[in-house]
Amino acid sequence: MGIYQLTGRVQHYVWGGKDYLPALLGIKKETEQYYAEWWLGAHVSAPSMLEMEGEAISLLEFLAKNPTALGEKSVSKFGTELPYLLKILDVAKPLSIQLHPTKKQAEVGFAQENAQGVALTDPTRTYKDNNHKPEMMIALSDFWLLHGFKTKAAMLATLNARPSLQPLAAKLAQQAIHAFYADIMQADQAQLAQWLLPIIDENQAKYAANQLEPTNPDYWVLYTMEAMAISPSKLDAGLVCFYLFNIVHLREGEGIFQDAGIPHAYLRGQNIELMACSDNVIRGGLTPKHVDIQALLAIIDCREVVPEIIPVAPTQQAYITYQTPAQDFSLSRFRYQVGQTQSCEAQSAQILLVMKGKVTLSQGTTVLALQQGQSAFIESETKYDITGLEDGYCVIAALP
Ligand SMILES: [Zn+2]
Repeated sequence: MGIYQLTGRVQHYVWGGKDYLPALLGIKKETEQYYAEWWLGAHVSAPSMLEMEGEAISLLEFLAKNPTALGEKSVSKFGTELPYLLKILDVAKPLSIQLHPTKKQAEVGFAQENAQGVALTDPTRTYKDNNHKPEMMIALSDFWLLHGFKTKAAMLATLNARPSLQPLAAKLAQQAIHAFYADIMQADQAQLAQWLLPIIDENQAKYAANQLEPTNPDYWVLYTMEAMAISPSKLDAGLVCFYLFNIVHLREGEGIFQDAGIPHAYLRGQNIELMACSDNVIRGGLTPKHVDIQALLAIIDCREVVPEIIPVAPTQQAYITYQTPAQDFSLSRFRYQVGQTQSCEAQSAQILLVMKGKVTLSQGTTVLALQQGQSAFIESETKYDITGLEDGYCVIAALP
């Protein structure tokens, strides 16, 4: 039983913004540096650092020495690793279209690539570990993303509304979504140009004059080409996906869950993300990274999706847990006021991150004062109190 101050790690991916994370976390900002993600967890590639008796030790090392910190239920289900990874993202430029495997697919894929002798560091490697990666997110701003295939009827309407895409609508009317999508992803440059260049030409001036709405897929084609410096002579099949996938707009506080196989792409905004501890990403365009079309087609879930939005947590309720189907993690939000104390008991290892205001966490004689951007690791079976020092809220990652 115990509580410890925890410090995450920044990932400087080039799609990240420059200001949001340094301001939220109160960290020093270097000029010309990108701040894309803040990781809190024990992933081998960037474990958080835990403060113990005045010394910093990686959470990974700490858990190896103290597996009981995870709790019995967690160890029996997920082994001696922290099952989840908590992140804050600042999406300044669109991320690749991607999906994540099921647990079974990850186990098979990981074993296959090991057997083939593909090194873990090989850029063409698809499976980095044997875990699935369901993920949930809560928007910290207006947030835009692609999420799953639209209904066939909605896709047909979108395609038919654009003369250069009408041949695609005719094809889709005859084909199952999987075969239809497979053909698009394997289309050559001449074909992509036939579909997309008329749309680009027609909308360029409107886009530049701010006359396209972000609910319109044409907007995102032009936005992405600009943000990712995609040349009209080197079009990406991923651009066609703006006409096939749901364009979802989340308002601050709303969220969404991405299940295995569902194609998705974060387009713009900031969010809190909580996922199973894995790095298995199968990419489907809009990326300079390795795209393995066969691996993608083997596991993509072509289900017609009507997005289910996780509603904003009611402000009058101090403590709420967001509802998702995930077994590997759950996210709670605790809203506090000055002087207010909430007693908590961790049923599994927890990571608490102060998003706004200031609190003290106390357990026995240990007292941690945490301000916005700071976080703590809480061992399983720890009883502790959170007291507000300044109005605000924190999020808590745990097992459900
Ligand atoms: Zn993802």
